[in-house]
Amino acid sequence: MYKPFDIEVIREQFPILERKINGYPLAYLDNAASAQKPCRVIDALRNRMASSYANVHRGLHTMANETTESFEAARGKVAEFLGCPSPENIVFTRGATEAINLVAYGLAHTINEGDEIIISQMEHHSNIVPWHFLRERLGAVLRFVPVLDNGALDLEALRGMLSARTRIFSLVHMSNVLGTINPIRDIVPWVKATGATFVVDGTQMAVHNPVNVTELGVDFYCMTGHKLYGPTGIGALYGTAHALENLQPFNGGGEMIEDVFETHVTYNDVPHRFEAGTPPVLEAIGLGAAIDWYRQYDPADVRQHEMAVYAQALDGLRDINSFRLVGDAPEKGSVLSFNIEGAHAHDVAQILDKYGIAVRAGQHCTQPLMERYGIHSTARASFGIYNTLDEAERLVEGVKRCVTFLL
Ligand SMILES: *Cc1c(COP(=O)(O)O)cnc(C)c1O
Repeated sequence: MYKPFDIEVIREQFPILERKINGYPLAYLDNAASAQKPCRVIDALRNRMASSYANVHRGLHTMANETTESFEAARGKVAEFLGCPSPENIVFTRGATEAINLVAYGLAHTINEGDEIIISQMEHHSNIVPWHFLRERLGAVLRFVPVLDNGALDLEALRGMLSARTRIFSLVHMSNVLGTINPIRDIVPWVKATGATFVVDGTQMAVHNPVNVTELGVDFYCMTGHKLYGPTGIGALYGTAHALENLQPFNGGGEMIEDVFETHVTYNDVPHRFEAGTPPVLEAIGLGAAIDWYRQYDPADVRQHEMAVYAQALDGLRDINSFRLVGDAPEKGSVLSFNIEGAHAHDVAQILDKYGIAVRAGQHCTQPLMERYGIHSTARASFGIYNTLDEAERLVEGVKRCVTFLL
């Protein structure tokens, strides 16, 4: 049974939302960069450190067992959250960036000169640079699927690019700039037909929409904790059993081994093979708490609310003559990137901050996408579970003031 969606009750659970910025109540509209944390997460971290803490997996004492249990329970929560068959399909990482790097490094042994890796123009740098490494080091060919003017992926072009040369196809599920949600399920059969490995950057998607990796049928799916109301320093990589068995470990050290000899090493089972050294124990437990908290609410309610706030802001902003929306795909989430013609996005963000409104401005780690649209940057308001229609109105009023000041 889900709890009723009551925005006031939700906001009360985030102490930081009481903050004033420059004398105004904080309107935190930078959720695509990182989300704020509910008491449930803050308390979970505090309680863990205050009452039962030790390293995981190695100890035979009570607190080592308690901490290991909580850590492994968190893995189970991530698995359930992503709809994956077993906790053994989940590798804890430092975040989405590390998850993608692990996949790129771990698949390097399957790549030969001239093999193609296909990504898209709307990728975050963390789903571009690791593949450039394979281009630089192994002579792989890195190709970018174009994005249409409205921010949707050019599916026709994608079909034309996929071939027997494709070894890896890696795609963002929901863009952190355009908000575009890519039709992964439709694409899976095309990629499968080439025999390529399908990697999905689900960093934004997992926060705003229910995800079921089993139904999607992809090989790897990456997510992060700090955008899902959890701590920084924790993320997860889902892989099918087959995909994980094929992946070479990235970090070597304690816990990822079975036996170490002078002559050779044998490795621990998946997923522990990929978690060398002391893992982010507290962060993982914090992520588990974030997922528990978040799953109290019906994802349909959350999405409906976030999209209502988005629509309210967009409606108001569209009245401004110099307003230019970046990303208007039919399928999109609550990310609103824009420019004010004649003004710099950084100036817009700075003026909004004077009124307590936190938005991001810049390239958002998506330089090829900026290039695609012939722009240097955008301002970006990104809405989360606790944002209100009133905050959307304040954004509109704030941008109107920017226009008065800057144009
Ligand atoms: C934030 C983000 C990342 C990077 O995630 P981290 O966990 O911060 O490393 C990757 N891809 C997308 C689409 C993002 O929004």
